[in-house]
Amino acid sequence: MAAQETVDHKYVYDFSEGNKDLKDLLGGKGANLAEMTNLGLPVPPGFTITTEACQAYLATGQEPDGLAGQIEAHLESLERAMGKRLGDPQDPLLVSVRSGAKFSMPGMMETVLNVGLNDQSVVGLSAQAGGNDRFAWDSYRRLIQMFGKTVCEVPGEEFEHALDEIKNAKGTHNDLDLDADDLRGLVDAYKKIFLKHTGREFPQQPREQLDLAIRAVFESWNAERAVLYRRQERIPADLGTAVNVVTMVFGNLGPDSGTGVAFTRDPASGAQGIYGDYLANAQGEDVVAGIRNTVPLQELEQLDKASYDELLGIMARLEEHYKDLCDIEFTIERGKLWMLQTRVGKRTAAAAFVIAGQLVDEGLIDLDEALHRVNGAQLAQLMFPRFQLDHEFEPVAKGIGASPGAASGTVVFTSARAVELAAEGKSVILVRRETNPDDLNGMIAAKGILTSRGGKTSHAAVVARGMGKTCVSGADEIEVNVPAKRFVVAGQTVNEGDVVSIDGTTGKVYLGEVPVMPSEVVQYFEGSLDPEHIDNALVRAVHRIMTHADGRRRLAVRTNADTGADAARARRFGAEGIGLCRTEHMFLGDRRELVERLILARAADEREAALEALLPLQRADFVEIFREMDGLPVTVRLIDPPLHEFLPPLEQLAVNVAVAQERGEDVAKEEALLAAVRRMHEENPMLGLRGVRLGLVIPGLFAMQVRAIVEAAVECAQRGGDPKPEIMVPLVGAVQELETVRAEAEKIIEEVTREKAVEVLIGTMIEVPRAALTAGQIAEAAEFFSFGTNDLTQMGWGFSRDDVEGAFFWRYLELGIFGISPFESIDRDGVGRLVRIASEEGRAARPGLKLGVCGEHGGDPDSVHFFHEVGLDYVSCSPFRVPVARLEAGRAVVETGGSDSR
Ligand code: PEP
Ligand code: MG
Repeated sequence: MAAQETVDHKYVYDFSEGNKDLKDLLGGKGANLAEMTNLGLPVPPGFTITTEACQAYLATGQEPDGLAGQIEAHLESLERAMGKRLGDPQDPLLVSVRSGAKFSMPGMMETVLNVGLNDQSVVGLSAQAGGNDRFAWDSYRRLIQMFGKTVCEVPGEEFEHALDEIKNAKGTHNDLDLDADDLRGLVDAYKKIFLKHTGREFPQQPREQLDLAIRAVFESWNAERAVLYRRQERIPADLGTAVNVVTMVFGNLGPDSGTGVAFTRDPASGAQGIYGDYLANAQGEDVVAGIRNTVPLQELEQLDKASYDELLGIMARLEEHYKDLCDIEFTIERGKLWMLQTRVGKRTAAAAFVIAGQLVDEGLIDLDEALHRVNGAQLAQLMFPRFQLDHEFEPVAKGIGASPGAASGTVVFTSARAVELAAEGKSVILVRRETNPDDLNGMIAAKGILTSRGGKTSHAAVVARGMGKTCVSGADEIEVNVPAKRFVVAGQTVNEGDVVSIDGTTGKVYLGEVPVMPSEVVQYFEGSLDPEHIDNALVRAVHRIMTHADGRRRLAVRTNADTGADAARARRFGAEGIGLCRTEHMFLGDRRELVERLILARAADEREAALEALLPLQRADFVEIFREMDGLPVTVRLIDPPLHEFLPPLEQLAVNVAVAQERGEDVAKEEALLAAVRRMHEENPMLGLRGVRLGLVIPGLFAMQVRAIVEAAVECAQRGGDPKPEIMVPLVGAVQELETVRAEAEKIIEEVTREKAVEVLIGTMIEVPRAALTAGQIAEAAEFFSFGTNDLTQMGWGFSRDDVEGAFFWRYLELGIFGISPFESIDRDGVGRLVRIASEEGRAARPGLKLGVCGEHGGDPDSVHFFHEVGLDYVSCSPFRVPVARLEAGRAVVETGGSDSR
């Protein structure tokens, strides 16, 4: 839209011309005022200036052609309808000028009330209000104050200060004690403030007031707080706001007037009933400002039964019409009820499920619509224990909410100490600069993990999410000093043994203990709450909607799990197999030394000895997992360790050797180790000798794993089980890599399954961009693809997954380069395109090729919708995200209007 738009372009809509579906054009407030007008509800007459007019104004700095004339025409018809003229000295029409964007941005933009008052019309207003001088002068001073502050940037405190001075002189704290003369004096004082700051008199021309107020509302779209809010809420920056010009009605005309807000159901719990607040003899801004205490809406019944009954009738009508919880703002002017706003109300996650269930019961919506109205983010919120933050707790730091939940516990700095204290029954929070695989035992023992470095895909974050354990990562205000066993934050020192609380949803860190409540929804998923037999509206609603989602979804949902316990839990949560068993996680703890020997071995016999020792351990791991997932597919990925995680740190080893040499000790063994570690040292381990590369370089490593997998499957099958192993090769970039591994694997499979037939699939991760781009070739050697979107994002963007989120993503988010970390939600245009290309070309080469995703994105709501659209067969995610993925996979079908349920 540009200023040169033709005169005919419609920029202004009377309330009678719009409807609730025109939110893009009329904003939420305007669209709903129009809807209520057309329902015949008592809405003060008015009109809406479109978001397009705002966009044009913001683009060019001037009102688009035709806008002024259209405002004039609508104003005239409003004047005719009301039988009054804007600013008429005898009987003035007054209007409010209100912002209203497509998405609600509460309090972020501007409103000016009482436009049309001036030195003459204030007298007319008084006469109109039955000689109520006080009311008229109070309205006038409110206009100057709001107009000054909003339109002309006069500092608000100056007006507040003048008001306080008058109150002090009168010896009162209450605005209501000021009489008409006081307020007349206040108007003079305000006008002087206005003149001092703007260099001009307060405008007396009503039309000028109106035009300036409209401009100010347009401009408030780009006010700093609005920009910030939009970024946080991911509201696009180019929508602009509509402007509503509404006939003023007054709730401050005496005891038979008032103003209030109401919800048609409880927005916290979803319970039916009447929820609202009322304030007699007041305007809406008094309620918002909390200047005076409101009373429960029910008390209106005593004050004004007719208005109360009418309001309840309207609320019921609105619910039936919108088929949802509505929130409402209303004003009563001398016993006459006016509706000033309605919209589908915001609600808590719990209320969203409960209300959706109730509306189905009431026959207002069907189950598809109920499924559409809830989302995975809400379900995830309901699945984590929460802090009871009813008391004031101030966070001391904020990091990245890396794995949701709430945890309080004693601070420890080492894995060993975490294990020790946990064994004594203590809750501990493991605090590290960053974690590495050696911290695994400590992470298992801890209630929560707090790191000062690393993003959402850092080791701490990924492992914690896998365990369903609370984690805050990258809290860089915290200075961790592990040797000294303390950290410093905001000038305070926290020592080992002190208690902290961390919120893995918000990333907030608190000193001391904040009480925690468990999740009923998790208890339900775990099977310990039976929805048919408990009186819990939330659990029943979740059960009902989940059952429907399962019936609707086409995508299967698997889990990423490396242990029998994780597999069992995920199965209870509804997982239909394992999409990724990361075998490198099986080489930690005691086995780490064997892997170190294997990697550093120079002679074949050393290597073979290590492999031989590992084989039975691995076989036992797989037996356990196949047993827990009996009858369901289990994708086992061959080892993919970034090498540095398994080798002793080079610098430390070098220092140890140097110190020992200095002391004249025998260091032959350490020197040999140092030489080997130097030999294997990599500057970029994530781009180095990992995945299939390691498998091709270290003879026997993959073969040992393949043998362990197949032997485990055969063992389970011999015991009457139904194992479904799928062997997956990581980090493949060229079909030749896969072919080489495949040839060796097939021989082993053939040999081992001679005893007992078990079908074993061989497939590959698609996580190197080259693999995605040569998927047609790779599919010739793969029975399935699983997209490793963590690495695909890392290599697609060239972002180190362990570093960038904490390092500079804040700036990228600020600049709008992306709205959300591409490690969290799939970058549809870039990385997503690689997924699409590989899917299409893979399936073209091998029809029926099984496709899944096992990167972190597999449990991200928006990404699940993307994978549904691309046509994958399944998503795989950490156990705790399985229900979220099930729900979103169902929603994806409903939202694409599909009937392709399973
Ligand atoms: C991936 O890269 O997306 C993946 C699942 O593998 P990992 O996270 O283990 O590298
Ligand atoms: Mg990977």
